[in-house]
Amino acid sequence: MNTHPKYERTLVIIKPDGIQRSLIGEVIGRYERVGLKLVGIKMLIPTPELIEKHYTLDPEWRTKTGLKTIKGYTDKGLTPPDTDPLKITAVILKNLINYMTKGPVVAMVWQGAHAVEIVRKITGGTEPLTSLMGTIRGDFVLDSYRMSDVDGRAVRNIVHASGSPKEAIDEINHWFRKEELFDYRLIVEQMLYDVDLDGILE
Ligand code: ADP
Ligand code: MG
Repeated sequence: MNTHPKYERTLVIIKPDGIQRSLIGEVIGRYERVGLKLVGIKMLIPTPELIEKHYTLDPEWRTKTGLKTIKGYTDKGLTPPDTDPLKITAVILKNLINYMTKGPVVAMVWQGAHAVEIVRKITGGTEPLTSLMGTIRGDFVLDSYRMSDVDGRAVRNIVHASGSPKEAIDEINHWFRKEELFDYRLIVEQMLYDVDLDGILE
């Protein structure tokens, strides 16, 4: 595989709430307009096994997500539901399986320079209460850890996006078969990546 940054790929899933909020076109448009290339897409209703494996592909996920949740509470001067990050993620994982299997999702693979970081920037931070305006999670949803925890459910934030290049590779292999991904050229890539910009003048 070529290691030039333009070949980087990332996984995006429009979650059941994104589909129900009629945001498929909006979400796709935001990744498209920055210059990323869609190289795989499908709709499916995930099984509980698919979701559990997806979130535990990274052995560190339980600890990282628990710590991020604790920080989300303490930064606002609130007391987290538990001091043990693993106890917090046990509950989050159960709620996530419930959330992600409730209806169809759209799974996609986007390719382009720094795809993982660019997609995370466009997507915004995990908790919609603090995700920045201009991001998908900041613009289209109003959930918080505090509210989702009180109601015993996962935080609804419209899309999933891989957190790192390593996570992206594992997640793409988990969701897509090789034949479902396409290597092709977009005309606009010449403007994004071509070194000399020849071919503009007649
Ligand atoms: P991200 O989706 O931004 O990568 P994580 O990987 O940390 O975030 O968590 C996966 C998903 O689990 C989040 O997108 C969100 O739907 C849910 N989630 C994470 N933390 C919490 C929490 N404290 N309470 C409820 N749901 C959570
Ligand atoms: Mg994540």
